[in-house]
Amino acid sequence: SVRVRIAPSPTGNLHIGTARTAVFNWLFARHQGGQFILRIEDTDLERSRPEYTQNILDGLSWLGLDWDEGPFFQTKRMDLYQQKVQELLDKGLAYRAYDTPEELDAMREAQKARNEAPRYDNRHRNLTPEQEAALVAEGRKPVIRFKIDDDREITWIDLVRGKVTWKGRDLGGDMVIARAADAETIGQPLYNFVVVVDDIDMGITQVIRGEDHIGNTPKQILLYEALGATVPEFGHTPLILNQAGAKLSKRDGVTSISDFQRMGYTAEALANYMTLLGWSPPEGMNEIFTLSEAAQHFSFDRVNKAGAKFDWDKLNWINSQYLHHMPVEQITDLLIPYWQAAGYEFDATNDRAWLEQIAALVAPSLVRLEDAVEMTRYLFVADVGFTEAATAQLQQPNVATALAAIQSVLEQSPALTESTIQAIIQQGVKAANVKKGLVMRSLRAALTGDMQGPDLVQSWLLLHQRQFDIRRLNQALA
Ligand code: GLU
Repeated sequence: SVRVRIAPSPTGNLHIGTARTAVFNWLFARHQGGQFILRIEDTDLERSRPEYTQNILDGLSWLGLDWDEGPFFQTKRMDLYQQKVQELLDKGLAYRAYDTPEELDAMREAQKARNEAPRYDNRHRNLTPEQEAALVAEGRKPVIRFKIDDDREITWIDLVRGKVTWKGRDLGGDMVIARAADAETIGQPLYNFVVVVDDIDMGITQVIRGEDHIGNTPKQILLYEALGATVPEFGHTPLILNQAGAKLSKRDGVTSISDFQRMGYTAEALANYMTLLGWSPPEGMNEIFTLSEAAQHFSFDRVNKAGAKFDWDKLNWINSQYLHHMPVEQITDLLIPYWQAAGYEFDATNDRAWLEQIAALVAPSLVRLEDAVEMTRYLFVADVGFTEAATAQLQQPNVATALAAIQSVLEQSPALTESTIQAIIQQGVKAANVKKGLVMRSLRAALTGDMQGPDLVQSWLLLHQRQFDIRRLNQALA
């Protein structure tokens, strides 16, 4: 049965490109009733960090991309890799090469001068035992190279791109599969090699990864053959591009899943959007879908070959669809941490009903959860102050008269409801003999400190629960 994997390197936080590749693997696995495996490629000891591993695990879990096996860590599997390098040495398919860095540089310079592509010219492929002994005697440290036949043609039917063919001669000569060691031992095995050993060992049936890895695939296919393993299928998914059409990178700002999470994109919306970055749902299927719904319909026929431009407007639209349709209990749960982080004072348990009313009030205008922080400030902070526009509004003729009338009714009025509010507003209109619109605008200025915001009557009811309405009317009239 189908076994696919995501194999992130913990050299940074979970990147949107990796997450999107994980989504496609997950969708394919779930569609096929197969297994989705997580492997942490932590062989780059200098750049790998445990906190990045944690960030990757948290990000995948948050998105709902549950894995069936793993996480496996490559650093714990070194013995297996060394065994497999030895196997290739024993079969005569790999050899020790003793070139110094200076010699390799000189070789490349000469190639450049001849206008040739840089490649290893396989000069140490057929050393005699005497030649090898002499190089060892010089104290040289060998790397291990895997033989690549220049005349080979390597072809595979890519799940996304169809038939792809590479020529052996374009692969850069015999490839290094393990770092320098000495004449008997094997140094650290390298990326292309360990990926293949792992994918064989883990029984991977489809390797689905970003298009940036396409040049590794022909080399890896040769390694499968050399190791006597069945070559899996490959699918190279289109890259995520920035507005300029280049590969999305850290320089484009927000690219890690935890950043999107912090800004208040929901896991469901982000997973939905990432699926659409490269996959088109079948005719008649809504663009808003859960991962499980997408899994039912997922196939590689509908994955685009061309790169997918990252589109903030689209992501924002999708996120707002989720926020606007979310049950109030759920959106309240999601908003509470943002309000807490903003330092707003409330009791998450005792004030629950009030918080849910606030959530219900602002949910229809939210694009991201973090938007709620500014949008609801006037409900949490006793003295929000007045914007310039609000101050100007409060200074208009007759406004003070209207607000003073409202203030005095409010001070006597025991309970505030939508209908008492309407009556109170009428008192202000009558007292100052002005239009209702003027009173409404002035009330908004006085009660919220601003000229726009969520529904005024609902806001007032919420402010009243903390007596902020009376306090602010006093400030406005001071
Ligand atoms: N570790 C590689 C990466 O982070 C994945 C390679 C693969 O999927 O084969 O891009």
